[in-house]
Amino acid sequence: MSKRFVRVNKNLCASCGACSKECPRNAINIFRGCYAAVDEKLCVGCGLCARTCPAGCIEIILVEEDS
Ligand code: SF4
Ligand code: SF4
Repeated sequence: MSKRFVRVNKNLCASCGACSKECPRNAINIFRGCYAAVDEKLCVGCGLCARTCPAGCIEIILVEEDS
């Protein structure tokens, strides 16, 4: 089994909020107005946020898990 995780490069994030608006699960908040923070419990790994980010600072990581 595998699971997708979202990784945000905080140094590149412009805190524009585009990813947060796009996320169908409301899993992204702009933490203290500084950077996008993802709630892993809500995220389903769809990748919409990564495609939306104008700064290209969101990465989807595929992690293999033992079943
Ligand atoms: S991968 Fe999908 S569900 Fe997860 S934070 Fe991005 S848009 Fe939301
Ligand atoms: S879309 Fe990109 S630059 Fe904008 S808040 Fe989200 S991660 Fe940061």
